[in-house]
Amino acid sequence: MHTKLFIPGPVEVREDVLSKIALPQIGHRTKEASELQRRISENMQRVWNTKDEIILSTSSGSGLMEGAIRSCTGKKAAVFSIGAFGKKWYEIARANGIEADIFESNMGDISDPNLMDKALSRGKYDLVAITHNETSTGIANPMEEIAQVIKKYPDLVFCLDMVSSAGGHKVNLDQIGIDIAITSSQKCLGLPAGISLCSLSKKAIERAKIVKNRGYYFDLLKLYDHIIKKDYQYPSTPSISHMFALDYQLDYILNVEGIENRYQRHLDMAKIVRDWARDKFQIFGNEQHLSRTVTTIANTRNINVEDLNNGLKERGMMISNGYGDLKEETFRIAHMGDTQVEDINELLNNINDILKI
Ligand SMILES: *Cc1c(COP(=O)(O)O)cnc(C)c1O
Repeated sequence: MHTKLFIPGPVEVREDVLSKIALPQIGHRTKEASELQRRISENMQRVWNTKDEIILSTSSGSGLMEGAIRSCTGKKAAVFSIGAFGKKWYEIARANGIEADIFESNMGDISDPNLMDKALSRGKYDLVAITHNETSTGIANPMEEIAQVIKKYPDLVFCLDMVSSAGGHKVNLDQIGIDIAITSSQKCLGLPAGISLCSLSKKAIERAKIVKNRGYYFDLLKLYDHIIKKDYQYPSTPSISHMFALDYQLDYILNVEGIENRYQRHLDMAKIVRDWARDKFQIFGNEQHLSRTVTTIANTRNINVEDLNNGLKERGMMISNGYGDLKEETFRIAHMGDTQVEDINELLNNINDILKI
């Protein structure tokens, strides 16, 4: 029996999307490949509300996080972390020999815009890395408020990890002032893992020009120059199969479901899971800033999550344990991608039944 995934990536992928992965290959130096990539870029610009160029990478999102922080930090990076994935920005910087400071919030809280402003006002940094939707704690940063800070620092390059929110929780990149937004295929976009995307602003491109050791595979300037000069083709061979599926799925998101409907469905599912969690357990973290794509639940009944998952598996479903430092204290239910309200209700009914709650 197939196990339906309610984990925060990889997510369930619709049959029609999966079938695109199996289409015959095309040459990556052909006109069709250029057109495929251009269409993906234009549609992703619509999803993200940006005029900035879109770069594709045949890697998971971590690759582009590495590319962003390495290609665009000249002096020093400021990382504002609200959980395990925020820390990842810092680890990536250090592993690449890039100077960085990390400012960590308490688990379950947001990055405080005032503290952010204070840290940046010292003038030591030229790149800022933030997480939009922290998948470990189930918290979404308040981007409208953070935008007020971003506006005060026009020389800094702002990078936003949107791996678990792009396509599920709206951020208007150009309005907020994001220079590099990053996402992966296997979360709210509802595709298999293996491809990731980022936006790249003019400011980020200019910055990369003065950074010396940008690496090779994830050198964002090289990728950008290549797609501009070679009509949207890449220096190395991209996963054409993923591009077929992504092209198909972006058309579905924008023209069949509708992006605003998709955002609303994510919020509807989130509200159902939150209500259930409040009723049966407790929600982890700051209730004012809950994620719309994944809910982190405080394990107040001290259930054994592995046992629960074994029970769910017999019924063809799977949820997620806590992540990192929260592994034992919490568990997580993802409501992202093409999961529907009915799927969520079915999952919660089965959990109630298994736990007899
Ligand atoms: C999943 C996730 C990542 C890691 O992305 P990969 O595609 O697995 O490399 C980074 N940040 C957040 C917020 C995530 O949810």
